Amino acid sequence: MSVKYMTALALSRAIRERELSVYEALCELQRGIERTEGKLHAYLALDPARAAKDAAAVQTRMDRGGVASPLAGVPIAVKDNICTDHLKTTCASRMLAGFLPPYRATVIDKLCENDLIIHGKLNMDEFAMGSTTETSCFGSTCNPWNTQHVPGGSSGGAAAAVAAGSALCALGSDTGGSIRQPASHCGVTGFKPTYGTVSRYGLVAYASSLEQIGPIARDVADCAALMDAIRGRDARDSTSVVSENTPYLSALGEDIRGVRIGIPREALAGDISPDVSSCILNMARELEKMGAIVKECNFPLMKHAVAAYYVIATAEAASNLSRYDGIKYGYRAAGDLPLCELYARSRSEGFGDEVKRRIMLGNFVLSAGYYDAYYRRALRAKAEITACFAALWGELDMLLMPTAPTTAPALGVSLGDTLGMYSSDRYTVPANLAGLPALTLPCGFGSDGMPVGAQLIGAAHSDARILAVGYAYQQRTDHHTAYPKEVRA
Ligand code: GLN
Repeated sequence: MSVKYMTALALSRAIRERELSVYEALCELQRGIERTEGKLHAYLALDPARAAKDAAAVQTRMDRGGVASPLAGVPIAVKDNICTDHLKTTCASRMLAGFLPPYRATVIDKLCENDLIIHGKLNMDEFAMGSTTETSCFGSTCNPWNTQHVPGGSSGGAAAAVAAGSALCALGSDTGGSIRQPASHCGVTGFKPTYGTVSRYGLVAYASSLEQIGPIARDVADCAALMDAIRGRDARDSTSVVSENTPYLSALGEDIRGVRIGIPREALAGDISPDVSSCILNMARELEKMGAIVKECNFPLMKHAVAAYYVIATAEAASNLSRYDGIKYGYRAAGDLPLCELYARSRSEGFGDEVKRRIMLGNFVLSAGYYDAYYRRALRAKAEITACFAALWGELDMLLMPTAPTTAPALGVSLGDTLGMYSSDRYTVPANLAGLPALTLPCGFGSDGMPVGAQLIGAAHSDARILAVGYAYQQRTDHHTAYPKEVRA
């Protein structure tokens, strides 16, 4: 039996039905990684010995009949900003190169409780800052659909590995689109939950008020199953909340007739690739055929989302990243230096250009003379965008819009155009500003042969509903089952 391109749920089922063992599944996946990594560079760390040991332990528990999780036995890889105490956690930064955390993230505990096997860490933009995975200090990841193109970012390693079949599923983090945009560019499914649904304990902080950990997988059902495994209130993250008791997985299959879906006029206007808008409109027609009510709506404040996001995100980043001082942990500049010079040199040498740009911008918008003009105004815009969404939920259940304005750009073009790169986040950042759940799923291909993703955004805590609509769409279409030819595991 071949593991390649199996969904995580199907693999776990096959293991439970004894069609293959946990160890056999893991070995086949590892052979796939060996075949693809030369072209992709999706992974930053692998630990085959530890994974084999964990696989044996899970197998024993399964043989004794002691496992309940629908994902038991499934290997999973996680983005390298999620702390693991057996694999280095570098955030793709020189600042944390070689850092082995003395503790692990709550989501890692939860994956283990659900008998998944963590077999590797995935490449990303440095400290999750970027939209292409090109700011990784270890080098970019390539898009498996065309290795001359970026996979998107910042969870580019996760999306590329799942698309190529060199990971069955993965966890990423999404501060302003970092799960959804790379999933969209790589033709896979990704989900950013309602803020607070998943514990951020052990996620290396970038912009704490915006970010959530979430799944990247082949389809919506795998995302729902992973969400069920990782969500829940955690005493170690005071922003985490109690979410619905009913498994998201059991909401799949619900009737979607009568679901009211709005397409914001602003989303399909302006600078957007015609390929992307036509894929979104095709998806809208398909949803209508399934009984959904699709109508246009207005979201005039959308044009302010990127500006508000980059002010708030950089302000929080400047504060969060002040802990890297060359003293407590992380990179330290060589030599016997006076204290201030040690700080300055360690940070100058340890951080890459994009991270430094954001720290400077963040300190600027928080400085006494500019706080009101930038930071306070951005917070006001955030509140107004949140209110704008809330007003829409009176007449709509969810929004449909693109995940990104174009398909994946070629390698090497985005970093020279920082503002252009920031503005390509315009469809993803509104959900982070308002803390809303958002799903991205493949809905077609551009004329360049690259995948196009569509996004469903719903009211806070309507995660199960969005997943149910995405699932229904995937039951009727096959975009999510397409595989890249160029790089296959
Ligand atoms: N591209 C956005 C940024 O660079 C989003 C990153 C993220 O979600 N981590 O900030």
